[in-house]
Amino acid sequence: MSPRFLLLFFLQLGCSDETTEGGFKVSTRDGDTGVSATSECEDHSGYLNLSWPVVGTDGHDWVLVNYVDADRGEGMADYAGGLGGLAKTYDGHRGVDISISSFREMDAGVSVVAAVPGVVEYVIDGFEDRHTECVDYDANIVGVRHSSGHLLHYVHLKTGSVAVSVGEEVMTGDVLGQVGSSGCSTHPHLHFEITDSTGDWVDPFAEDLWCDPPLYETPIHLMETWVIQGPSDQYENPYQDPPAETDVFDVGELLVAHFVVAGGDVGDTVGVSFVGPDGTTVGPWPLAFEQVWRLSTWAWAFNVVEPRGEWSVRYELNGEPYMERTISVE
Ligand SMILES: [Zn+2]
Repeated sequence: MSPRFLLLFFLQLGCSDETTEGGFKVSTRDGDTGVSATSECEDHSGYLNLSWPVVGTDGHDWVLVNYVDADRGEGMADYAGGLGGLAKTYDGHRGVDISISSFREMDAGVSVVAAVPGVVEYVIDGFEDRHTECVDYDANIVGVRHSSGHLLHYVHLKTGSVAVSVGEEVMTGDVLGQVGSSGCSTHPHLHFEITDSTGDWVDPFAEDLWCDPPLYETPIHLMETWVIQGPSDQYENPYQDPPAETDVFDVGELLVAHFVVAGGDVGDTVGVSFVGPDGTTVGPWPLAFEQVWRLSTWAWAFNVVEPRGEWSVRYELNGEPYMERTISVE
């Protein structure tokens, strides 16, 4: 028995975005206050000291897939010196793309929160939010003005999720809405963009504006798993409109086990094995990465075998057990 082994989806490029821009006087953190950022996400009126705008932790709940394009010409560069095809960005990208694992997670609801305090300056909601390609620029967005004059744009929000109104004051960590895939977006993510008083965009990594920035190299991590009844092509759009999870199978039925991986370097391996009630083990079927991934979704499909009873589905990263779930074979 050999499994069918599939790469379902990967995200190296995310979105392109258009945001509005504002016009207040800005003083930067390098200005006359002379104050530098601290590890505490304390607010400073003169400059931005950003906390993370999506709830959860790096590699578990979200992963940063695109930085600001530091090359304002036709090339691509990120703040860490990645150039061209090695830059974690795409040409002309003005913000930071923070992806969640799937439309399943989007449906479950992942909160977007204020990175700094401010006053809600504009709100756009009501646009459709299940985009998997760039069909339009009708994104749901919240724009918040900080006392420094910077305008922070939280883009691609889920339809109907906006939780604030124009003129409202928000504090760091207040929920603004939920991650979605509205507008020019291929996958549920937050495009987080900062513009200054001239409307020019600001790279929060290059300017060192985060109080606790994520690592540039995302350590490999398993973000999400699910199991469905195969074959996947019986579903109209299993990526965008995920079918219900299944945990009961008949012998001989096709099972498709998925997992979503954040990060991953050349040579890292991902795999899955199935262990039956009597210790019968099928797999593991490790797959070695041949390139660096930022976010990828993998699936293993195989026909369920005897014995009947409770089986565990064991996901592995680099040969180590990582996550486990149970299915019942009848
Ligand atoms: Zn973006």
